[in-house]
Amino acid sequence: MQSAASLAPTDRANQQPDPATGDMLATRPHLSMHAVSGLLLGDVPLNAIADTLGTPCWVTGADILRSRYRELTGAMAEAGLPVSVHYAVKANDHLAVLRVLGAEGAGADVVSGGELRRAVQAGIAPEAIVFSGVGKSEDELRLALALGVGQINVESAEEIVRLSSIAAGMDRIAHIALRVNPDIEAGAHDKISTGRLGDKFGIDHRDILALYAQAAGLPGLRPVGLAVHIGSQIDRAAPFRAAYRRLASLVDALRAAGGQVGTIDCGGGLGVRYRDENGLSPRALAGAIRAELGDLGVRFAIEPGRWLVAPAGLLLASVLTVKRQRDGAPFVVLDAAMNDLLRPSLYGAWHGILPLSAAVAAGPLSPAHVVGPVCETGDSFARDRMLPELRPGDRVAILDTGAYGAVMSSTYNARPLAAQALIDGGRWACIRARQPVEALWRDETVPDWLQRADLPPLQDRLR
Ligand SMILES: *Cc1c(COP(=O)(O)O)cnc(C)c1O
Repeated sequence: MQSAASLAPTDRANQQPDPATGDMLATRPHLSMHAVSGLLLGDVPLNAIADTLGTPCWVTGADILRSRYRELTGAMAEAGLPVSVHYAVKANDHLAVLRVLGAEGAGADVVSGGELRRAVQAGIAPEAIVFSGVGKSEDELRLALALGVGQINVESAEEIVRLSSIAAGMDRIAHIALRVNPDIEAGAHDKISTGRLGDKFGIDHRDILALYAQAAGLPGLRPVGLAVHIGSQIDRAAPFRAAYRRLASLVDALRAAGGQVGTIDCGGGLGVRYRDENGLSPRALAGAIRAELGDLGVRFAIEPGRWLVAPAGLLLASVLTVKRQRDGAPFVVLDAAMNDLLRPSLYGAWHGILPLSAAVAAGPLSPAHVVGPVCETGDSFARDRMLPELRPGDRVAILDTGAYGAVMSSTYNARPLAAQALIDGGRWACIRARQPVEALWRDETVPDWLQRADLPPLQDRLR
């Protein structure tokens, strides 16, 4: 099952027309178009950042992160729910993003030792970190125990036994939650649905009772509750409610069997608006938690990633060339590509595209294919998108790329990782220098027997 967000761009024949520039701006109050300075994020002209850092360039708005975090915690407080927020670091793991959210009070949900180190490096307290993930290495589990993470979400019988022996050997007690596979169809894109029995995630809900009891009897472990995460970009409350209902009945059964259950980790997955989806409001999520789990007398955790950061990010790009064809729309070739932003190629994701110049944006619309220069047909951002005429050198912003954007970048086609900037109030700063091209092969070595002494350094050839 696919949501509108995830339909391949060519597959949208029966949908509403793409939102117009005015609608995209109206639904994104942090963006505005100034007649002279062009597209602004908050008070900062995006052209100023592109002038300094070049393109492609990611831009993140710190104020948007803060206001979304506050909207989320506000909705939970309003519903009277004791909730701690563990930001899912994989959505955007930049240290500055973690610092902004950490300063707001967020903990973290991490899925690797690398993310765990990042979160701690950014100042998030280990006790406020949940370690999730379907495969954790012994080194990663040792790191988590040595740092004293607040909770480890276990995903299999094997992991329970392994963690017990590691923790006992280190003389630590691991607080664990069992991640339940509730067998729920979340209705999001197939590649980001995680709560069905055929998916690799979680423990079959029918095995939870026995494993919880087993874990309680093992050294080094303290089972504190249950966890669930059914998928991503979910824009209806129904799948959350179905999953939480399953958890509620498991909690009843666990307690009836003498188990202690003090916390429920409700996962992430809140959808956002990319095109014309509704997304899911924090209030709706709070309502689902309260309705299904509110009477259990437990503490809650949530693990939102995308919802917090997606709308806070943009990818700036410049038009390299416009390739007109005999038939069909022209190809607008950008200097950003699938190696920078993978979501359109990977999921057929739709992202809004706005020119940075007000004069360009005001031009008449016609269909265009917006692509990158990478040698893959799948290197496409939009097909038959209604856009004003774009010429070489014109700049565009690809919207809502704060989640699963820069973190999924690669250097395919020997394209260095793009620069990144953070806007905070009226200020902005470069938060990641564009990767120097030499960095692409810095860690490579050529074996002795393939060395050549006669090669002049590359710089000497550039005269
Ligand atoms: C990816 C992930 C999340 C965050 O998902 P979003 O859709 O970005 O909110 C939360 N919890 C776990 C375990 C995850 O793997």
